[in-house]
Amino acid sequence: MTYNKLAWIKQHNMLNSLRILHHQGKQYISDLTTAKAAGIFRGRPIISLKEVDIKELVTLCPTRAINSTPIQIDLGRCTFCGECAIAFPDKIKFTKDYKLSSNDRNRLIVEEGNDIPITLDTDKIRKEIRHMFHGSLKLRQVSAGGDNSCEWELNASGNVNFDIGRFGIEFVASPRHADGIVITGPITQNMAEPLQLCYDAVPDPKMIILAGIDAISGGIYEGSKALNRSFIDKYSIDLYIPGNPVHPLSFINGIIQMIGIQS
Ligand code: SF4
Repeated sequence: MTYNKLAWIKQHNMLNSLRILHHQGKQYISDLTTAKAAGIFRGRPIISLKEVDIKELVTLCPTRAINSTPIQIDLGRCTFCGECAIAFPDKIKFTKDYKLSSNDRNRLIVEEGNDIPITLDTDKIRKEIRHMFHGSLKLRQVSAGGDNSCEWELNASGNVNFDIGRFGIEFVASPRHADGIVITGPITQNMAEPLQLCYDAVPDPKMIILAGIDAISGGIYEGSKALNRSFIDKYSIDLYIPGNPVHPLSFINGIIQMIGIQS
């Protein structure tokens, strides 16, 4: 092959690559704190003060996430199935607000008439968390009877779109290299001991994050004899991240709020 022909092929390939890049556009999300959630995502609900048949509303919820007087939705139990909003559209609306995390379990409860963002209680964040993990945080994920949905979304947090690595946050294979654990799944009997072993292997100081409603409350499995949630009762939880499954934007915003990258 002549030199000219080779140069032409290289130039042609380069132009093709540039054309593909241009066609794909910018894949990464430049600001993860203000990005809009796409598609049919259901985030923080707003409950109006409109009067409805409370008994019907409370009983239609498959996970007993709705309380009455006042009407509240517990996002630690809500599967975000949308049934309540479909049946009572003037009473309940789901926004696309994906900032659902808190370190205070009570802040996951949304009450009628209150359109207030869910936040962390900064006074309750342990000092060492922001001091030690602000610029670098390694997490070990434990799927404790999970159905792979939250696990997929946590995996997506590291992809080219969400790129959680830009904050120095990443998942590691060994608990010995981790600063904390992220639990997904309702914690089955079989996973109770491996979860404890994993947690014990993480060096101090360490944190516990619950990702998804299965981890937070047991979800649709709450109360099942197949679960062993004694681990949750034994330790204080540093962060609750609702979702079913957790959206990468919920996960990332919760973590960066906790470690003080974003308030
Ligand atoms: S969206 Fe949540 S609160 Fe409403 S019915 Fe489904 S699980 Fe219950």
